[in-house]
Amino acid sequence: MRKHRIAAIPGDGIGKEVVAAGVEALSALAALDGGFTLEFEHFDWGSDYYKRTGTMMPADGLEQLKPFDAIYFGSVGAPDLPDHITLWGLRLAICQPFDQYANVRPTRILNGIESPLRNAGVGDLDWVIVRENTEGEYAGQGGRSHRGHPEEVATEVAIFTRAGVRRIMRFAFRTAQSRPRKFLTVVTKSNAQRNGLVMWDEIAAEVALEFPDVTWDKMLVDAMTVRMTMKPRSLDTIVATNLHADILSDLAAALAGSMGIAPTANLNPERQFPSMFEPIHGSAFDITGMGIANPIGTFWSGQMMLEHLGEQAAADRLMRAIEKVAADKGLHTPDLGGSARTADVTAGLIAAL
Ligand code: ATP
Repeated sequence: MRKHRIAAIPGDGIGKEVVAAGVEALSALAALDGGFTLEFEHFDWGSDYYKRTGTMMPADGLEQLKPFDAIYFGSVGAPDLPDHITLWGLRLAICQPFDQYANVRPTRILNGIESPLRNAGVGDLDWVIVRENTEGEYAGQGGRSHRGHPEEVATEVAIFTRAGVRRIMRFAFRTAQSRPRKFLTVVTKSNAQRNGLVMWDEIAAEVALEFPDVTWDKMLVDAMTVRMTMKPRSLDTIVATNLHADILSDLAAALAGSMGIAPTANLNPERQFPSMFEPIHGSAFDITGMGIANPIGTFWSGQMMLEHLGEQAAADRLMRAIEKVAADKGLHTPDLGGSARTADVTAGLIAAL
């Protein structure tokens, strides 16, 4: 029997509700499969933990997480705490030291889900966005001086390293190569960001030579928003910097029908550290505690986690069940225009499994 140890970090807001649903669904799947077990350990880190202890996670938090095979994460953020504390104190405090440099976000319109794009349906939008996840605009370099004075200054320095850009480009070309269309779009802004992004373009062209079977093109990030909206079929695999992909992937999630559906994986492809899987949505305090959070993004993140753990058959089974649930309007939560509750969707998913 194969055994996988998973650290579950529900975090804040609806993160707690959707991770509970995800753990229930994945446990049921493992029991049905019979070939592997998932051993979940729960960590109550996040904003409530911060209010009790003054830190988002304990000082030895990373040491505690290191032995796990994967991390199943909910969301982080609280209305009464600044975002930079909650984000840097937990999510980024895990992603960066664990070198989860490839953030992967599949986007598809699932059967039964309505896209805000007129006439767009299943198959019109089938993308994988690869986001550089450790440097770029979110490297954390910069500072503030003369606080509160009229001459106050703040800098936010984007960092692009040759090694960092090369490894994300290689990962993106490999991802494109593994998909039927073998087509990659490199998002850039080298017309205005004329140092880091010019190097980004140069390295993309160098790495492309290693992948002669992959076709690729280049898009300025502003024009990319237009192409995603007007010509969604013209895209397949997409690679972008930390900031650009952050924005583009929210657009992608909205175009696919709801923030509640989209999953993401923060991968350390070399497997020196555990990788982390989470829905892309935030804590959504407007609906916290109401029992109506859409758990599909968390189920889909669980599917990506199973793939990463080598449980492809179970991952495929879970994806078919997700598609079945999405297609059933009676199991749509209010964000999809229905009146189902998180618990209904979870029960529906387990029945579909
Ligand atoms: P962040 O933590 O990133 O600041 P947020 O808490 O403001 O995010 P988002 O994730 O950006 O919330 O989502 C925006 C809105 O979309 C939420 O306020 C909520 O109404 C809705 N939403 C997001 N995720 C879900 C979900 N899983 N189920 C139902 N509604 C959702």
